[in-house]
Amino acid sequence: MATVTAPSRPSRRDGFDIGIICALQEEYDAVCLVIDEFWDEDGDVYGRVIGDKNYYTTGCIGKHNVVVALLPEMGKANAAAVAANFRSSYSHLELVLLVGVCGGVPSPSRRDNEIMLGDVIISKSVVQYDFGRKYNGVFVRKDTLEGNLDRANKNIRSLIRNFETERSLELLQTQTARNLTQLQAKAKSKKRRGTRYKYAYPGTDSDRLFKPDYLHKHRPGHGCNVCDSKPDAICHEAHSAYCEENGCDQGRVISRNVHTEKQQLSEEQAQEPVIHIGAIASGDSVMKSGLERDKISQEEGIIAFEMEGAGIWEEVPSIIIKSVCDYADGHKIGNWKDFAAAVAAAAAKALLGRYIKTDRPLEEAAQQSVSTKVSETNATSTPVGEDARQSMPTEGLDKQHEVTGPVSEEASQQDTQAKVMDAKEHSPPPPYTKVCDSQGSNSRKRPHQPDDQPKKVAVRSAASANTTPDVY
Ligand SMILES: [Zn+2]
Ligand SMILES: [Zn+2]
Repeated sequence: MATVTAPSRPSRRDGFDIGIICALQEEYDAVCLVIDEFWDEDGDVYGRVIGDKNYYTTGCIGKHNVVVALLPEMGKANAAAVAANFRSSYSHLELVLLVGVCGGVPSPSRRDNEIMLGDVIISKSVVQYDFGRKYNGVFVRKDTLEGNLDRANKNIRSLIRNFETERSLELLQTQTARNLTQLQAKAKSKKRRGTRYKYAYPGTDSDRLFKPDYLHKHRPGHGCNVCDSKPDAICHEAHSAYCEENGCDQGRVISRNVHTEKQQLSEEQAQEPVIHIGAIASGDSVMKSGLERDKISQEEGIIAFEMEGAGIWEEVPSIIIKSVCDYADGHKIGNWKDFAAAVAAAAAKALLGRYIKTDRPLEEAAQQSVSTKVSETNATSTPVGEDARQSMPTEGLDKQHEVTGPVSEEASQQDTQAKVMDAKEHSPPPPYTKVCDSQGSNSRKRPHQPDDQPKKVAVRSAASANTTPDVY
């Protein structure tokens, strides 16, 4: 295996090329476990611009210097604000990864692309599925520029296209599994007395998919007045309870061949995630309805639901890397959040391992090298803070985002060679198109994937979305 050379510790903020944003503390904790070396063990030395309220963690993953930010709260607006500050303080970031957990669309009818808990979702596009209005109780999504997010820039499109090839996806998947094992070992070795080790594979037995019309609520006999009042009524307590506590009927679980096959595997084999590339739905609330999930998935070609992607997609060149912690139907069998966060962090590290580092202009690289040597002999004398701010170049994300009109491919390539990557770019936002449907999404086939699997999802035309704003 080739040895990766760790990058020099940057002397200034513009020496960082990768940003990572996490919405939850669990996601941030997991990402910290894949950082090879931290640059802020003795405190932050890089500062931030005036008005930026983000707290940053700096270090390196593989050959990349990375800066990590944790959202103060979940949601699209918070993500957008953090991302905007991110690009002000760290204006040379080429790529920002949104790493964490999401709700997956199981789609048992798709022969090769069945999504299981703990699998990885990588964004090919992002759809604001809840941007619209309700007419007579029927939600109509606004087919406008605000609702249809611009496509990713060319750098990211090329990267994703590359990952869709069989070889790259295979390599990405293998490395993710390897990183996950290393993360788990590291977490065990760092575990403090009195704390629990939380990144173990929860087990295939707790990966159960209920029929989409079977609600997660208190069953008759539980004595809940709210849940008993109407067939689709769900009380607040039932939302956060486990299926066992609510009395959800295991007889309503869908039988899946992949699930049966995974039960025969060792724990180490069973936890290996499959990576799926496709469209992600981003909204202001958590999807907790199997019927609504399947309806939107079929209409928009969605393979996962989450809450922050739309916020950062328009602000910084980004890729969403999330692992599936539930099926977006409200049911809750085991605690998959920590494990899924670990899988996402492992996948992010694997992706960065495949991401080609862009050359920096020679003068800048030389300056950085000299400064780094100085900082290594005297860490406190690193030229950072106000000095660094004054000397920061004006190129980078801020300038890239000033591009508003069409730019020729040739001009774009020249710009990329000279500096960093392009931005939200090249062409005006295209009219909304279904970028990726169920068939268009890409994933590696699981071993022993069944050739024929009957369609078991009953999709209905109307359903109320049971959503609450407090999960991922
Ligand atoms: Zn209830
Ligand atoms: Zn349930």
